[in-house]
Amino acid sequence: MTPGEHTRAVHTPDPPRLEQTPLGLPVHRSAAFRFSSAQEYADLLSGAQKGYSYSRVDNPTTDAFAQAVAALEGVGVDGEVVAQPFASGMAAISTVLMALTHAGAHVVVPREVYGGTYGLLTTVLDRFGVTTSFVDMTDLDAVRAAVRPETTVLYAETLANPTMTVADLPGLSAISREAGLTFVVDSTFASPAVCRPLEHGADVVVHSATKYIGGHSDSTGGVAVGSPELMTRVRRARIDLGGMLAPDEAFLLHRGLATLPLRVARHCASALVVAAAMDEHPGVLRVDHPGLPSHRDHDLARKLFDEGRYGAIVTITPPGGRAAGLALCDRLRLIAVATSLAGTHSKVSHVATTTHRQLDDDALAAAGIDPAAVRISVGLEDPEDLVADLEQALDGL
Ligand SMILES: *Cc1c(COP(=O)(O)O)cnc(C)c1O
Repeated sequence: MTPGEHTRAVHTPDPPRLEQTPLGLPVHRSAAFRFSSAQEYADLLSGAQKGYSYSRVDNPTTDAFAQAVAALEGVGVDGEVVAQPFASGMAAISTVLMALTHAGAHVVVPREVYGGTYGLLTTVLDRFGVTTSFVDMTDLDAVRAAVRPETTVLYAETLANPTMTVADLPGLSAISREAGLTFVVDSTFASPAVCRPLEHGADVVVHSATKYIGGHSDSTGGVAVGSPELMTRVRRARIDLGGMLAPDEAFLLHRGLATLPLRVARHCASALVVAAAMDEHPGVLRVDHPGLPSHRDHDLARKLFDEGRYGAIVTITPPGGRAAGLALCDRLRLIAVATSLAGTHSKVSHVATTTHRQLDDDALAAAGIDPAAVRISVGLEDPEDLVADLEQALDGL
């Protein structure tokens, strides 16, 4: 008997099985997978057989993206390095921290930690009995003093917003090892084309792939990288928490990786041009960029980062407080007032009213941030055009 119209419409012929490997990454846009037998289904769920069952659990496209990041982060590291994909940078960070803590556990975090991570620790994880110490990570004695018997995680950021403080990864790793902690590093601002924290003693690297890895401000994702043992724990937590990357997003992020070193090299070279020009400008009080010899972490950056690459964020401070910072943003014509960082287009944000809006002027001062500070994410435009835009904006202040 010929099956009915609806049955034929649903049960289409299987797609061809490929003998050749496609150069473009296939998007496996399927939530569910069909098995050859009930036993295969059972074996997949029990872990007795490897494969794909359900796309919140694993998906071939998101796997391809994550393992591509692992290949970039894990170069030069002894032992196997694998990765887990996530729906966003915050999904990666929250899942990693939940995998590595428990009620009663304690985490040591930099005081200038990314706002989303700060919120996670102070409004979510604290309700589950995880406590946090926010410390000045440039002071290794302060970090050592903050570690308690119940501490499980030491957390750092390769480059911290907005002063571009560079984490002393080898020094922090030594403290973490000594105390038996897991050393987690958010390397979003660096990307693996600037620095690979696993080479310097990190146990887990997390990224907002939304930024340099994707690189075009058109997709959201995250990734965590580390040893197979740690990533097995992280994957289990990811499956339960559900922050899985979608295959379409994985395709875009994977495509971004192919040009990551090219883009980041240019982002960084242009950022140096912008930073040097702003350093010379009489209308700028202060420039924060680790490529400048005057930056407090310049020598550390030279030691840990790839040659000539210091990230592409430049923070400048005009005189005149909050009003001047806001006015400077509004006077820019080419550089866009926009959220996020990285991406092809240069972006600017006024630090005190955006990324650090929770801090009042006293707290800003304690963190070494002027209320006028403006953060520039240097894009792929011609750097001369970016400098000219900044100069016309500053000259009119
Ligand atoms: C953007 C960002 C995150 C969060 O990533 P999302 O993809 O927005 O969830 C985490 N850490 C740093 C340093 C970031 O810049």
